[in-house]
Order: sequence, then C-alpha cells, then structure tokens
Amino acid sequence: MKITKIDIETLAVPLKHPYHLSQEYGIFATATPVVVRIHTDEGITGVGECDPWPLFTGDSDAVSALILQKHLAPMLIGKDPTNINEIHRIMDATIRNQHLTKSAIDMAVYDIWGKWSGMPVHQLLGGKRRESMDCMWSIGGSSPEESAREVLEAKEAGYKGCMIKVGTADWKLDAARTCAVREAVGKDFPLIADANQGWDTDTAIRYWKQTRHCDLQFFEQPVQSWDVEGMAKVRRAIDIPLSADEGVMTLQDAKHLVQKDAVDIFSIKVTKNGGIRPAKAICEYADANGIGVFFNSMIEEGITQAASLQIAATCTNIVTTIGHAFFSPYRLDGDICSYYQQVKPEEGRVLITDRPGLGIDVEEAAMDKYRVNRVSVE
Ligand SMILES: [Mg+2]
Repeated sequence: MKITKIDIETLAVPLKHPYHLSQEYGIFATATPVVVRIHTDEGITGVGECDPWPLFTGDSDAVSALILQKHLAPMLIGKDPTNINEIHRIMDATIRNQHLTKSAIDMAVYDIWGKWSGMPVHQLLGGKRRESMDCMWSIGGSSPEESAREVLEAKEAGYKGCMIKVGTADWKLDAARTCAVREAVGKDFPLIADANQGWDTDTAIRYWKQTRHCDLQFFEQPVQSWDVEGMAKVRRAIDIPLSADEGVMTLQDAKHLVQKDAVDIFSIKVTKNGGIRPAKAICEYADANGIGVFFNSMIEEGITQAASLQIAATCTNIVTTIGHAFFSPYRLDGDICSYYQQVKPEEGRVLITDRPGLGIDVEEAAMDKYRVNRVSVE
C-alpha cells in the first residue's frame, strides 16, 4: 500500500464558553485544530488531527499546516503508511522536533493500518486491558461560588472527578475556589488542581498549604515546563502526587523528570506527545519507573480524543483516583467526527470501541462549517 495524497485542513472551532486559565494562558475562546486525511492506492483513507496552541507548545495552526504542506506531506507520498517506524523516521529526518504537528500524520497512519488490517488501534498496540474508562470534567477560573456550582453540575452529570484550573495571579482566590468546591461537592468526589505553569515554587507550596485539607488527588504543573528542579522542590514540599503536563512533551523530558525525582504522574496528551507511537512509549517508560499516567487533553476534537482513548485502553499504569479527560469536544461548538457516537459516554464513562482504526467517521457538514483553509499534496 502506498500513500497517494494528503489533505491538510485548518479549522476554527469556537468554545461554547470561554475557558479561563492560568496567568500564562489567559482566556481560551477558539480551538484551531489541523486535520489531515491520508489517501492510499488501496482506497483506504486515514484521519489525524493536531491541536496547536501557541502558548502551550509553541505551535500554531498556520505553522503546523505549512510544515505539513511544505515539508512532511511531500516526503510521505509513495510511502507505506503501515510501516509506522519508517513514517516517523522520515518525519524526523525531514524536520526536527515539531512533535505536535507530526502527531496528525501519526494518528492518520495508525487509522489506515487499523482499517487495512480490520483491527482497532488498541489491538495494534498489543490489546486492550479494559472495556471502558471513567471521565472527569475540568473547570476554569471564576469566583468560589461559580467554581462550586460548575463542579456540582459536573458531579450531577455523572463525571467521576474534576480538575480545577488554578495558577492565576491571585493564588489566594484560587485556594478559596478550591476550598469552596470541596465544601460543595463533599469529601468523596475526586478533585485535582492544575496551575498550567502559572506559579513559582513558593507560590505553589503556599497554595498547597492553604488547600491541604481539600484532599486533592494530585497537583499538576505548578511551575514552568523547563523547571525540573522547581518541580522536584514542590514535590518534596507537598504530600500529594505531582503531575507533569507541559513539562513532559517527549520521552527525553520524561527521562529528565524521573532522574530528578521530580514527578509522580505524567499527563499524556497524544497530540502534545507527537502521536500514538511516542505517547505509548512515554506510557511504557512511566510504567517501568513507577510513574502513573493520566489521560489528559488539549482543547481538541474527537479525532485526537479517539486516538488518546485507544492508547489509554492498553495501559496498565493509568491513574485510578480520578477519571480521565475524554470530554473535550463537549467544550466546543461542535465535533468534526462521530467520536461520541462511537464511545457512547454514559454516566461519566466512555466505552472502548472495537471498530477498525481510530473507530470514528469524519462529519463532513461539521468540517465544512469550521474549515478555514484546505490544501492537498499529491
Ligand atoms: Mg495540564
């Protein structure tokens, strides 16, 4: 089988409600996924998505689309999409880094391999270890009263836990919001806090002291992504697990965090981590080093979420204290594929689909609605 054509489509999808994040990120109002469709000479088409967010990883939709069009797609025409190792070798030999952009190609070739072999991606990764997964919700910054109300709504909707976005310029308000949420939802509802790099180590430790009685399941990325020593300092000071998100983009990042005893949990995001193959490698490295994995998400559409779910289905070391982030398209004006029809979220759980490939179909009407640009390389 050979790749004959690659379509690259840039989208703009508004969020239903603006998402208030840390002082690093401000307010997020529009997602800009880039979708690739890889066509083959056997009539099989695979889909992939990457989710650029300039402040998060340094990627933007315009740059990702251009790299796909000018650098990656021309090198992949005529190549066998089922040789995933070779596809990655070609991409890495063409342009350094650009992990997020490469993730769109990676997902699409796994989708092709699955459709061609008649197997779901989780089977290609060695087989699923579970039939479903718990889901959590996530709330942005607002008043203590509003935060409590939002988390109560998530609990009533069936979500198995909630992430509270903190890391704003007012850490005392973030602590008050956290306490208000805990008081409102009761002691048995799992909560985590994510500061999205918004603080220095001292502020992070002050926040933890102020919320110590709130029984957070873990605390994510309080300091800058590059600050491995800062993560280790926070980890030594607190008595709950510490998670790295922005700090763990690559397998090498994972290695540095482990070597410095800086982390207990990795936040896995399949697009941030460069696709299914590298994300699975990080999960296995984590497993070998006693690190848990939390399946998290960018603001992403159902293609990326489907890819994430396929990896999560295969991992032994997933965090069990709180659900995982398989809700992202619900934040958006609409999904561009049949993700939720296939995974059937009910009562805060998603089912692992056994359909071939990623197990989803693209919704053409939604693509037409949100498409900003489309180019093809053949
Ligand atoms: Mg995070």
